[in-house]
Amino acid sequence: MIVVFGALAVTAATAFTVPVRLADLVRAAVLAAAAAAHIELTRHAERQREYLRIEGAPYVDLKSVWSFAGLIVLPPALASLMVIWTYAVAWWRIWPSGRPVPLYRWVFSAATVLIATQAAVAVLAAGMHAYPGPPAGVPVPGLLDGVVLVAAGLLRWFINTALVYVALALSTPDITVKRLFSNAGEYVLEAGALSLGVLAAFLVATAPILLAAVVVVLVALHRGLLVWQFQQQSRLDAKTALASPRWWTHATEKVLGTARPFAVLLLDVDRFKAINDTHGHPVGDQVLRAVADAIRGEIRHEDVAGRWGGEEFVITLPDVADDRTLLAIADRIRHRIAGLDLTGLGGLADGVAQVTVSIGAVRYPAPGLESVDDLIRAADAALYRAKAAGRDQVCLAEPGPAAP
Ligand code: GH3
Ligand code: MG
Ligand code: MG
Repeated sequence: MIVVFGALAVTAATAFTVPVRLADLVRAAVLAAAAAAHIELTRHAERQREYLRIEGAPYVDLKSVWSFAGLIVLPPALASLMVIWTYAVAWWRIWPSGRPVPLYRWVFSAATVLIATQAAVAVLAAGMHAYPGPPAGVPVPGLLDGVVLVAAGLLRWFINTALVYVALALSTPDITVKRLFSNAGEYVLEAGALSLGVLAAFLVATAPILLAAVVVVLVALHRGLLVWQFQQQSRLDAKTALASPRWWTHATEKVLGTARPFAVLLLDVDRFKAINDTHGHPVGDQVLRAVADAIRGEIRHEDVAGRWGGEEFVITLPDVADDRTLLAIADRIRHRIAGLDLTGLGGLADGVAQVTVSIGAVRYPAPGLESVDDLIRAADAALYRAKAAGRDQVCLAEPGPAAP
């Protein structure tokens, strides 16, 4: 609410600082038409992007191409209208029925962009050669305009992102910083969108028909994004965000192909069924996530951790070449999991006291081990011995061909 009223207030405050001329209205209409074409042509991809989005992660908005272009070439009043226009068209065209995001969040998001836009207006008005208008072509002022544009873009992005993060952190208190930044790659896209916005601003003032090219670039970008998102999805286990079994196998086959020594750990949570039975399946899921986070926190960058299925995890450790090192690593992971404080899970007063894992460990190269399947079989046999010996311990695979 505060954000929405704040947005309306600053929008009104800047609205009449620069008078609106007829030429501005024409430019606004051209940009508005291009924005509508862009949204119309990408509505299918956008719908999928929203459904596939990782929970809690912010979303990069390619509509900003048009609002940023408007910000540069249009007087503030029209620039603000351009923000409202793109959001309204997207709401109306992309989600004719049953939008998964409630209206108030949509309005909030438009409001954050409005506030960020007014801040950028101030930067542009103070620093740009011929504001409002396209960047100047002369070399030296052109360069200055470039710097001012980057500053305005950064400020707009920063304010918008900060407001969105604060809201996310407030609405999802248990969100981790890591999760918030899980799609860092999309920031490059954000920068790309703003750059296209600069280009669009220049084109609308010089060769408006070429805006069609910008729309085509955007349509291509949306498609690429979607493919990237699908790939991400198939590589990750949805519950823990560790590698999926397929992706882990693929990555481990690559390590196997390098002919360097490495090791594989197979972990199984001890008496997990009892946790489910006592506290319920959702708490069991939270335990799995906590175990996954512990694994992530304990391994190196080049290690590959995956969820093998149910309550079993696999970890590939490149360059581990002797049993002592392997045992030390496995024990460190085991201790970290056993030391997890799970008492607060699921808001239970009598939460999960402790969770332990048994680990089977195997090193490569070793006689009789040729494929990832062989490694898993050997690790599984070792894991079985760890369970039989009383759980909460590590067993090394026995040398020689794995027992059938
Ligand atoms: P052990 O020490 O011998 O490994 O005992 P255990 O109870 O962990 O072994 P078992 O394999 O009998 O039980 C695994 C349980 O894990 C059974 C299944 O219901 C549960 N499980 C599998 N996948 C999930 C999941 O995604 N979430 C939750 N909450 N439970 C799961
Ligand atoms: Mg199991
Ligand atoms: Mg188990």
